[in-house]
Amino acid sequence: MQTRILDGARVADEIKAELKTELEGLRACGITPGLAAVLVGENPASQIYVRNKVKTCLDLGLRSESLEMPTSVSQRELVTAIQGLNARDDIDGILVQLPLPSHIDTNEVLRSVDPSKDVDGFHPENVGRLAIGNPRLAPCTPMGIMELLRREGIELKGARAVVVGRSNIVGKPMAFLLLHQHATVTICHSRTRDLPGVCREADILVAAIGRPAFITGDFIRPGAVVIDVGMNRLQDLEQIARIFGPDSPKLETARKRGSALVGDVHPVEALGVAGALTPVPGGVGPLTIAHLLKNTVVACRLRREMGAGTTTGTGDVR
Ligand code: NDP
Repeated sequence: MQTRILDGARVADEIKAELKTELEGLRACGITPGLAAVLVGENPASQIYVRNKVKTCLDLGLRSESLEMPTSVSQRELVTAIQGLNARDDIDGILVQLPLPSHIDTNEVLRSVDPSKDVDGFHPENVGRLAIGNPRLAPCTPMGIMELLRREGIELKGARAVVVGRSNIVGKPMAFLLLHQHATVTICHSRTRDLPGVCREADILVAAIGRPAFITGDFIRPGAVVIDVGMNRLQDLEQIARIFGPDSPKLETARKRGSALVGDVHPVEALGVAGALTPVPGGVGPLTIAHLLKNTVVACRLRREMGAGTTTGTGDVR
């Protein structure tokens, strides 16, 4: 079977082009949406993520800033800083880069973000709205995936969907969004019995696990649509060779760069079994960033009571 590669990067570019037009319209009304990213500590991966998000915003013509705080920041100082952003009229979206240091209560911090500026969709009010099928700002990764499925014409109504992973960031919101589009959804996790068997029932299989190449060919029903959320950076060249093969260009690149990015789906075994597959990189990652920008524009419009605009895509039950 020929596996169709679902080009998330191309769809992300389409979304950004549409946003650019919308931003021009807003600018004509004197409005430039603003995003603030809160970064605590010096986790190199978090620093790269925040830098990329800020840069993409600026490239598109949004205002963007990062608020960087030391690892030693106290709970109270962090919450006070977020309250300061809540109060600023020039800030429409606030994201708190996770994970936070272990002495910080992440839930309390996420609760301190004004729900109308919560562009990550992690505030309990936004989580609740998503659960009841009336989302306003929903998490960016699953929203980006829904947009990809929609634009690729993949039928969700009545489809069997299996989501592997039950995090609040990806797995659970993904399951709700699929359910609201009338898929029959199963959520799997580390205690699921016969995981390969459950996965093989899926017409649409979403892997959000954090384990490199874990979903091998025998998890995939021939012809299924497979969405690979995983982003695992591997440095072990032998492991990379085992996954991609000893002569693969990926191994060659990893030798030069010192690492390779691998999803949760086995990139070689899935080919020829899956009907469609998101690549890593270039699949879900770019969609996540595009949706963050989209959520910032949506938050800006909603706060000004302009309606969600053409870019809403909030996954309402239809
Ligand atoms: P979490 O670690 O929060 O959750 C992982 C989930 O996978 C848990 O529910 C866990 O189950 C489940 N799991 C772990 N091991 C197994 C197993 N052996 N069998 C079945 N289920 C298992 O991860 P996230 O949801 O935050 O992220 C998942 C992946 O997606 C990561 O690789 C992350 O880097 C990536 N990611 C990518 C994004 C993108 O933009 N492309 C954005 C966000 C995340 P249990 O609950 O039982 O422990």
